[in-house]
Amino acid sequence: MFGQMQDSPLLVSQLIEHAAQFHPDQRIITKTVEGHFHEYTYKDAAKRSKQLAQALVALGVQDGDVIGTLAWNTYRHFECWYGISGMGGILHTINPRLFPEQLDYIINHAEDKFLFIDTTFVPLLEALQSKLTKVKGYVIMTDEAHMPTTTLPNVLCYETLLAQQSGEYQWPQLDERQATSICYTSGTTGNPKGVVYSHRSSLLHSWGITSLNVGEICSETRVLPIVPMFHANAWGLVYAVAMMGAEVVFPGPHLDGASVCDMINRYKVDLSAAVPTVWTMLMQHLTQSGDTLESLNSVLIGGSAVPKVMIRSFEQDYGVEVWQAWGMTEMSPLGSLNKPRPQDALLSYEEQLNIKAKQGRPCFGVQMKIVNDDNQPLPHDGKAFGRLMVKGPWIVSQYFKAETSALDEDGWFDTGDVATIDETGNMQITDRSKDVIKSGGEWISSIDLENAAMGHDEVLEAAVIGVPHPKWEERPLLIIVAKNPEQPPSAESVLAFLTDKVAKWWLPESVEFIDAIPHTATGKINKVGLREQFKGYQFEGVSA
Ligand code: ADP
Repeated sequence: MFGQMQDSPLLVSQLIEHAAQFHPDQRIITKTVEGHFHEYTYKDAAKRSKQLAQALVALGVQDGDVIGTLAWNTYRHFECWYGISGMGGILHTINPRLFPEQLDYIINHAEDKFLFIDTTFVPLLEALQSKLTKVKGYVIMTDEAHMPTTTLPNVLCYETLLAQQSGEYQWPQLDERQATSICYTSGTTGNPKGVVYSHRSSLLHSWGITSLNVGEICSETRVLPIVPMFHANAWGLVYAVAMMGAEVVFPGPHLDGASVCDMINRYKVDLSAAVPTVWTMLMQHLTQSGDTLESLNSVLIGGSAVPKVMIRSFEQDYGVEVWQAWGMTEMSPLGSLNKPRPQDALLSYEEQLNIKAKQGRPCFGVQMKIVNDDNQPLPHDGKAFGRLMVKGPWIVSQYFKAETSALDEDGWFDTGDVATIDETGNMQITDRSKDVIKSGGEWISSIDLENAAMGHDEVLEAAVIGVPHPKWEERPLLIIVAKNPEQPPSAESVLAFLTDKVAKWWLPESVEFIDAIPHTATGKINKVGLREQFKGYQFEGVSA
């Protein structure tokens, strides 16, 4: 017998409706593209999202049409998330940091009908427009006073479009399995792949990340989502804040250390989320300015491994708790989060730090396992490492327009990460499978080495790649950006610093200093770029 409960669809329009009805006066604050602060409430946002939905209908947008956005985290982009998906359209958030050839590839692949763009990105699209044959028009997300002159065809002004509509609109009752949005992975190798989320997966994910074991988001939280809405769904925060009626501060394009610090202190932000590179910029600003972070309780950090030195500095110098998160675009994105267990409080801080440096335990809804090359499950002993496989209702089953499933025959998705899982279920990423260093038949974790090197006082950023070696197959090369490029530390001092932190045979064969480490469109160390830069590299005294 089936349960006899109502089977009403889960729809993202319900989130903004709920916020408008029950948290109408909670604020949404934006540091706009133009540089001033804009404030309004959920009630205002809900009305304007409906005006946008009406405008889309007036433009002839139909259920299932894809509408792209190239935009920063702002209140207008927030309205697009609800207006587009709520009326039955499919929101395609585009990462403007992709290479131009990837941009036109994904815009054409997704068949975007209209593009909603911030003024910042007008030149980018002007250069691409001749290739964007399927785009019917470009909506510039500003008011008439700030409309740029442009060579783009069929240009519309966002505020004028909204002003023509009343906001008297009933959200359609969609099927909860219908698509809300598409996000492409950054595709460091090959073409980017599209992940298509549904209303149901988006709502379930939102419940997951707001919960007390995860993001602890409620109507008393004030959130600063620095992670862009075009990178892995801003980690689900756009839906989560509305679900809980939390106040939100959107940073627009202002992501430098001084601006982030100002927004946190000006609006008494208590939770923020970003990749490590953003926090490195904030840390540099704090050190130089002497500023503090009085209101901030916790930061969600993910996208790349969080160096221990960053966790320690946030927690001990600024009193901000670090929650390391792991996930991927294919997972909406949250997979695991590192929150201390009650019994961890009895441990020394150093022991707690070792636990916190891992990627955490799965939140409810996500199943995880590690397997060897024969697909056999490996033990959860914190030592065995293998391919990390995941399963759950907010995880991809098939890439957009792909002919085959993205899952194995038992329904598991291979994340492409290599990880260990310890007895407590705490997972640690040792590498992307393509970045792992194979030395003498064993694997060396580039992430562990990078993390250890980042602990050196004079190191700003560290990256490790495998370089071919005639005897060992590959050996690690450590690449460093010094805090003071004029006076970098000696290679010997860095290697000496590492000796008691990693196994002897893991010690890098050599150290190189460079001015800047290249990053991908999602802020990760660009290992493909580094391997290209150091192609043909020879260790001293070793002939190829
Ligand atoms: P993209 O693939 O487009 O760069 P994603 O955010 O989807 O963007 O990347 C997901 C990958 O990022 C994961 O598979 C993993 O390799 C890496 N990652 C995410 N969070 C962490 C973390 N906390 N520690 C280490 N790696 C991480």
